[in-house]
Amino acid sequence: MMPTPQPPPPGHHGDLPAGVQRTGRQTTLRLTAVPAAEAPPLDGPTRLMAIAAVLALVGFLGLGITRSPAPPQQPLTWSAIAPPASTAIHPWRFIVLHHSASRGGDAQVIDRDHVAQNGWDGIGYHFVLGNGVDMPLGRIEATFRWRQQSHGAHAGALPLQKQFNTDGIGVCLIGNYEKQAIDPLVERRLVELCARLIDRVPTLSVGRIIGHRDVPGKSTACPGRGIDLERIRYLVRQELMARGMTVR
Ligand SMILES: [Zn+2]
Repeated sequence: MMPTPQPPPPGHHGDLPAGVQRTGRQTTLRLTAVPAAEAPPLDGPTRLMAIAAVLALVGFLGLGITRSPAPPQQPLTWSAIAPPASTAIHPWRFIVLHHSASRGGDAQVIDRDHVAQNGWDGIGYHFVLGNGVDMPLGRIEATFRWRQQSHGAHAGALPLQKQFNTDGIGVCLIGNYEKQAIDPLVERRLVELCARLIDRVPTLSVGRIIGHRDVPGKSTACPGRGIDLERIRYLVRQELMARGMTVR
């Protein structure tokens, strides 16, 4: 038979330390000043413990300093990605997000694959974003398609998919986001990239950031369930507002 539960004893929150009085619902702390001269001298073990406590505190603070996060990277500027001044900006209407569905890679590897396997004139994307394998984490690389403001090759060959190639900026996140979550730094850089593009290209808007899976006629998981489009759009809107850029 189970023992009958006993009501908790009075004062079960714990005994009050010396000097603390509980009066009704209030707890008051009574401080008694002890002049330094009258303070009892510390005996040996107590002194050692005091020294240890001070050392621990110093160590803790030191750790806090060394572990403080590195200053945030400079946010992406337009000049870092701007195509040559002689190249007119295409009236892009979509930002289409992809993942490479691979462990690593970079623009060169994808370029080689797209030429060899698909017979294209080069990498199909406009931007590639590194995941720290083969390409530095959070590094944004613009490809020849962006520099030339030429159409992409990333959204499919069906007639209803055509506009997503002709007017869609293809952004490829290196990694497999069907299997992994997006790294906070990669997400930050992606948000900055989308914000800069929307700020500079009047035909773009936050609502036109889509995933490859959102292209009609596509049965793909790309860019993977690890990429939450709603969250990305929310963060891009925040970024535009925070930096005084055009929100649309
Ligand atoms: Zn894709």
